[in-house]
Amino acid sequence: MLLGIFRSVSASMSQASYTVKHSRDAGPIGRILARFGARHYIAITGISLIAAALLLPERDEPLQAAPLPATIEQALNEHERIDFDLLLPPSEHVAEVMAMPWQQVKISNGDSMAVAFKRAGLSAQDLHAVMQNDIAAPVLRKVMPGRHVEFQTDEEGRLSALRYPIDSLSTLFVEREGDSFRAQTLEKAVATRPQFASATIESSLFAAGQSAGLNDSVIMELAGIFGYDIDFALDLRVGDRFSVVYEERLVEGLPAGPGNILAAEFTNLGKTFRAVRYVDANGKASYYTPDGHSMRKAFLRMPVPFARVSSNFNLSRKHPILNRIRAHKGVDYAAPAGTPIYASGDGKISFVGTKGGYGRMVAIQHGGNFTTHYAHLSRYGKGISTGKRVSQGQVIGYVGSSGLATAPHLHYEFLVNGVHRNPRTVPLPQAEPVPAAEKDRFIAATAPVLATLDAHSRIMVADNQ
Ligand SMILES: [Zn+2]
Repeated sequence: MLLGIFRSVSASMSQASYTVKHSRDAGPIGRILARFGARHYIAITGISLIAAALLLPERDEPLQAAPLPATIEQALNEHERIDFDLLLPPSEHVAEVMAMPWQQVKISNGDSMAVAFKRAGLSAQDLHAVMQNDIAAPVLRKVMPGRHVEFQTDEEGRLSALRYPIDSLSTLFVEREGDSFRAQTLEKAVATRPQFASATIESSLFAAGQSAGLNDSVIMELAGIFGYDIDFALDLRVGDRFSVVYEERLVEGLPAGPGNILAAEFTNLGKTFRAVRYVDANGKASYYTPDGHSMRKAFLRMPVPFARVSSNFNLSRKHPILNRIRAHKGVDYAAPAGTPIYASGDGKISFVGTKGGYGRMVAIQHGGNFTTHYAHLSRYGKGISTGKRVSQGQVIGYVGSSGLATAPHLHYEFLVNGVHRNPRTVPLPQAEPVPAAEKDRFIAATAPVLATLDAHSRIMVADNQ
């Protein structure tokens, strides 16, 4: 018993902002404590810690603190108690309701909300009323086994409030309002700290990134930042290397996944590119070279992520199906069916539909001079229709093999003033640089993170020599 309390306390003391309840060890006092709000729990266990410390010398065996979960997601998946105190309530009223005692019901395999309501002694009428709410219903329809849904009731035993952790960062909060319920999502405060990683490419960008401890989403973002300058489908070589300073997000003092890349350096075929993130005076974040040029061009060189060029731009190619000379006025990117296709630049959809050998096709008009075509799609992007404005990187469709195609691929065409140009070599106009009026602000904001990148990169190069 004593050991149990001490374990739960030591866990909450060693990570001051995070309290966990180890139900296995908690015993009857722990179970009683669990019925109070987290604030009470901390206060009471604080007293127990003193009691435990006073009695410690009588025990021969050294006490071992229970292992802390490594990440906040792991904590949630291991069914630990998540500290609701760290949510940011939108009002004093919500904060007060959150601090009142909750009745906890654990979701078991196959349980629905109806089962949880029944177990808590709540009426089917209350369940029906909650499920009328558009925010609450989709969350409560797919609750995760192992997690807890919590309830508060009024004097008549009717449901007055409900809460359920959606993920490590957000909790669904539902409250009675007359005969119906209103719902909202409460978010937790997220802190960030900079992290550094670097790697040299030996087989693939992903393998190198993973060996450096990077999450796939950071590797994707890195490729996105340098994707205008480096053709990741074709030009990546063994010995290329990168360094990256990125944000690690922390919730309740535990890692909660990566945030933004703050600065990065990529050396490809002996040429080094550098990028730094800058949030401009209007609050828009973009990546720039250290001297303020945009890392973006007005067009993506490649409108699909991580595809392989299966057929190049060639005005005298023998067509693989028709078996006669027919100009190939675009580039074919082989990728699995269903791979998203991005608008390569900002523009307006000028065509959506089926067009002979092209199969399902989308065309985008970019200002007066440029047009891009995307063919053989399996389906169109959500809301894509003629006349609609799209922005660079927006999903306009998915790779397929509709029309005259032997295997799933994107056929991509780039036209300048109505003339087909090679999408892989046509000079692309640059996106807007940092405005002249913001130059000083840009330098002040980016100098510290660039200095961090410099310092770490130098160490890495020295280590490799
Ligand atoms: Zn083609």
